Amino acid sequence: MKVLIVEDSKVLANVLARKIQAIDGISVDVKQNMKDTHIAIESNHYDLVLLDLHLPDAQEETLVDIFLERKLPTIVMTGSLNQELREQISRKDIIDYVLKNRSESIDYLVHLVDRLYKNRMHTVLVVDDSAIYRHEIQKTLNKYMLRTIMAKDGQEALDLERENDNISLVITDYEMPNVDGLEVVLSLRQKHKKYQLPIIGVSTQKENAIAFLKYGVNDFIRKPFFKEELSTRVNNTLDSIENVKKLNDFANTDFLTGVANRKYFYAQGTDYFKKAKIKHESFAVAMLDIDYFKSINDTYGHDIGDKVIKTLAQTIKNNIKGQDIVARFGGEEFCVLLKDIQKEAAFSFFESLRKKISNQRIEIDNDHICFTVSIGVATSPQADLDATIKQSDLALYQAKNSGRNKVCVDFMEESTREYEEA
Ligand code: GH3
Ligand code: MG
Ligand code: MG
Ligand code: MG
Repeated sequence: MKVLIVEDSKVLANVLARKIQAIDGISVDVKQNMKDTHIAIESNHYDLVLLDLHLPDAQEETLVDIFLERKLPTIVMTGSLNQELREQISRKDIIDYVLKNRSESIDYLVHLVDRLYKNRMHTVLVVDDSAIYRHEIQKTLNKYMLRTIMAKDGQEALDLERENDNISLVITDYEMPNVDGLEVVLSLRQKHKKYQLPIIGVSTQKENAIAFLKYGVNDFIRKPFFKEELSTRVNNTLDSIENVKKLNDFANTDFLTGVANRKYFYAQGTDYFKKAKIKHESFAVAMLDIDYFKSINDTYGHDIGDKVIKTLAQTIKNNIKGQDIVARFGGEEFCVLLKDIQKEAAFSFFESLRKKISNQRIEIDNDHICFTVSIGVATSPQADLDATIKQSDLALYQAKNSGRNKVCVDFMEESTREYEEA
């Protein structure tokens, strides 16, 4: 996303530019007067403009229109705002106006830009039988860079929700023909928790807030509302589900390597294990451990050891499919779940992974490291996931004992097979 800051105060412009540029995926241009700004907007496409209302070479009253005529999404910044100017500005189709009179204003602006940038990835399902409200809500959401899907009643909303798996938020009216808002909430809540699919309820009746809130909306807005209330509540709701997602990701991720941790592996793996058993779907669980890792640490130091662990995690991740899971179980030990795969295919996969790893060179200053792994694979589901992992651990033990840099499959089976290196 490309942002243009038009601000004659060099200090403020630089602080803003630095903070906004720090957001991954956003680039910033700064102009300090309208002369340079005209040249910039002639030759560049900007997704967003932060505009200071007081510029040395511009007229306050008509400045905003220059940008709106070009359909440039604009946030107005101003040092002061009298009643007349405030009213004049709020009638214009800008995203927001921000008073620069306190230090928090900068944080507000940066947060708003970040929010707008993320909003482009979100789709909101709007449900209202009133065409006027539908239009109003859609316009406000689009201005805040959100994508929208519109429904005229509850039934249409439920159908659309089923067909679209990219909806991040639902805004629903209460009183509607056929299926009303409360039924929409009840039905959606059977499938999605509050933090998975947030819902904002809307109604003219104050009492409807109670039913809405009891049955699982995240927030409520009473009609009629100011556009700013709608946009602020929507943005707050999206902020909070993103925070929950961040916390979830954090709790499920291994800090060093960024792959899943053991907790996540067990949670996802256990679910899958049950489903696979019912469907009679074959799968493979593998334990993978670096050979002689202690000597890598001893020779090159702990930091290089970490680098080796990270490289291995990435190599495994790059080689498995999206449906499969790799988790760091501890130290230099990883567990891999390959879904929907037969024993022979699982063996060739791990055999080829083992070879790739042994051929890999990790560059360190003026030198490189090579390392190998041993892999134990279980392809016969035991009583539960844990018991199946134990089987792969036994196969790993066997791979280690028979010389390392090896793949062993299904240790305890009667026809135990040990695959020698080709
Ligand atoms: P083997 O072939 O039998 O697996 O020999 P090994 O030397 O790899 O033995 P083992 O798997 O028992 O060694 C694990 C070592 O990994 C012990 C510990 O010092 C080191 N280690 C554990 N966690 C970390 C880590 O996060 N970073 C680094 N650099 N080393 C770690
Ligand atoms: Mg209605
Ligand atoms: Mg080891
Ligand atoms: Mg180990």
